[in-house]
Amino acid sequence: MSTTNALNNYINGQWRASGATEYLEVVNPATADILVKVPLSPASEVDQAAQAAAVAFVGWRRTPPTERVQYLFKLKNLLEANFDDLARTITLECGKTLAESKGEMRRAIENVEVACGIPILMQGSNLEDVAHGIDEMMLRQPIGVAAVIAPFNFPGMIPFWFLPYAIACGNTYIVKPSEKVPLTMQKVFTLLEQTGLPQGVVNLVNGAKDVVDAILDHPMIRAISFVGSTPVAKYVYSRAAANGKRAQCQGGAKNPLIVLPDADLEMTTRIAADSAFGCAGQRCLAASVAITIGEARNSFTAAIAEVAKQRVVGNGLDEGVQMGPVINAQSKARIEGLIQKGADEGSTVLVDGRHSDISGYEQGNFIRPTILQNVEQTSEIAHTEIFGPVLSLIHLDNIEQAISLVNSGQWGNMACLFTTSGSAARKFRYEAEAGNIGINIGVAAPMAFFPFSGWKDSFFGDLHGQSHHAVEFFTQTKVVIERWPNDWSRQF
Ligand code: NAD
Repeated sequence: MSTTNALNNYINGQWRASGATEYLEVVNPATADILVKVPLSPASEVDQAAQAAAVAFVGWRRTPPTERVQYLFKLKNLLEANFDDLARTITLECGKTLAESKGEMRRAIENVEVACGIPILMQGSNLEDVAHGIDEMMLRQPIGVAAVIAPFNFPGMIPFWFLPYAIACGNTYIVKPSEKVPLTMQKVFTLLEQTGLPQGVVNLVNGAKDVVDAILDHPMIRAISFVGSTPVAKYVYSRAAANGKRAQCQGGAKNPLIVLPDADLEMTTRIAADSAFGCAGQRCLAASVAITIGEARNSFTAAIAEVAKQRVVGNGLDEGVQMGPVINAQSKARIEGLIQKGADEGSTVLVDGRHSDISGYEQGNFIRPTILQNVEQTSEIAHTEIFGPVLSLIHLDNIEQAISLVNSGQWGNMACLFTTSGSAARKFRYEAEAGNIGINIGVAAPMAFFPFSGWKDSFFGDLHGQSHHAVEFFTQTKVVIERWPNDWSRQF
């Protein structure tokens, strides 16, 4: 493949053409237009980035936190000034609607804002006179070079769960975007360049598995943040750990949403539809299973089917569109295959979004909202991550059965309850085995000042992305015990 119109890497403060021998086409999922080519960079380019980051670390960690955050203040302003262009780029390469892309960039910026508090967030603790004349303190120091490996579904936001905290804490950084959506980070890095950050503090290496493996094995890279599917998350976590690295790996999900009979039907339906069909269901916090309890079965089923049919599907850049395409043709075929699997297992395809041609966008990867009814708890479709606009309906008799079903699964990213009962809400919040809980909320995405708390097979590690968890992840503690004997301390 020719390398004309190929993306570059950003290493040691310079844009460098990759020496890759393979390139992939980055394709607009709504139109099938080729946007750009992305190099599958070789391991040697990860090495260049790691070496540059290691050299930069020496000076960067000595830069006072108050000075380090000045670059983040500049970045925040640059992100605001380029907000619309970044959102448009996300829609072009990822397919979600412009409003969804703007929401994504808003959360990215929020993480920059939170990381600007590093002079307070990174503080340690101390106690004088742990014994006569002896003081003890706990310092937080940066760990060195760190890296993020990102998925396709939030090309703008996900690196920001980590990067602002990493560099604010004095680490240096490497970003490996998804090879399906590398354009947004390319633009973000032109802004990072404009902040005047010292060379080597942030680096961008495009590619796929070879780049990931090189990051996992590089001796200078000390910490890895991963977000993507569960099988790859497990692989990254185990290989990073085997190489002695710190790792936080966010995986896939199958998020349940429980509807009690006392829930506000209009609000519940609207929120459930936004959760299941927003971002074409390609959200790790998308509702994928709705469990209706008792009488909610009939009313919710009828209402959600109506809303699903009315959803306006099309090119995310077009006015009035409520749902864009899925990422690529393979993903579309996989999702349609899973809908068929559901039907083969005995579910009713109540609303069938397969084989959707959108006028003017016949080459796009469109699937309309789909609802599977009477899904058996034990069926494969009830437990497999579909990652598309498909909502499965399961009907149960009471909240105890619903919580038991939620807790029986392998996933633990999010669980939501719709009710007007405080006691039911508390029971659910208390007992549900998921790290992000929504009560009358359909996408319980933590704000930047809370950790993004996946559990079970949705997360491997101890410290999550965002907020004080990110600060702990990107720092190592050092305890210092000092003796300064003196007569006034009664230590002679
Ligand atoms: P993916 O696992 O295919 O890819 C993620 C990253 O891993 C990419 O950068 C890719 O290049 C790399 N990769 C892929 N296969 C690899 C392999 N065999 N070896 C080494 N590296 C590999 O995920 P995706 O399709 O880009 O993203 C969708 C998935 O991400 C879904 O499962 C979704 O639930 C999950 N996700 C989870 C969260 C969360 O917070 N838990 C957030 C967003 C997305």
